[in-house]
Amino acid sequence: MNIIMLGAPGAGKGTQAAVLCEHFNIPTISTGNIIREALRTGTEMGLKAKSFMDAGQLVPDEVVIGIVKDRLQEDDCKAGYILDGFPRTIPQAEALDKMGANIDYVIDIEVADDVIVNRLSGRRVCEKCGRPYHTESLKPKVEGVCDDCGGALVQRKDDQIDTIKNRLDIYHKETEPLVNYYKEQGKLVVIEGQDTVADTTEAVLKAIEG
Ligand code: ADP
Ligand code: ZN
Repeated sequence: MNIIMLGAPGAGKGTQAAVLCEHFNIPTISTGNIIREALRTGTEMGLKAKSFMDAGQLVPDEVVIGIVKDRLQEDDCKAGYILDGFPRTIPQAEALDKMGANIDYVIDIEVADDVIVNRLSGRRVCEKCGRPYHTESLKPKVEGVCDDCGGALVQRKDDQIDTIKNRLDIYHKETEPLVNYYKEQGKLVVIEGQDTVADTTEAVLKAIEG
């Protein structure tokens, strides 16, 4: 099963990807997490990406396309994978098609912009594994600590309010055209984002498994 998670920043892609990853026992490939990891370890790619990411802009296509191409060749992707945060532009989607990726479903989680601003400004993520939390709606068992790995929960630089607006603008301009792209390929599944993670998960699983 090869799945793409589509949707605005903060629509709940990462959260649903984590659920599907466990459900189908396939890896999640989050370009955002891979880039943040490169940034932390100070690789050349990380350094190149830093200014774009901090400003809430997209990292250049050739950089992320290279990342995904390498990652999909690893053994654990043979049984399937979930792409979270890729593709984000038409050229990225075209590159993925050229890689021969056989995508089964593109799950587009739709959430209104004002809801997104609320969610992102309260979002915290695990510094170690990237799992998302929220200060009000998705608290960890122990404050400031990741349920999964014990890592510290932090606020991302790009989750500050003015950067959030910028990311939403870019989403509407660069990423939203992918909805039509995958509709034409007959792969699109539109899910209306629900107030709770569990309700959204139910809708996603129903769409995939019937
Ligand atoms: P979100 O979906 O909440 O915006 P991500 O962690 O997926 O968060 O991405 C954070 C940042 O990483 C983006 O704003 C962008 O700078 C960079 N990034 C991640 N994936 C891509 C991609 N496919 N193309 C370009 N930039 C990307
Ligand atoms: Zn963690």
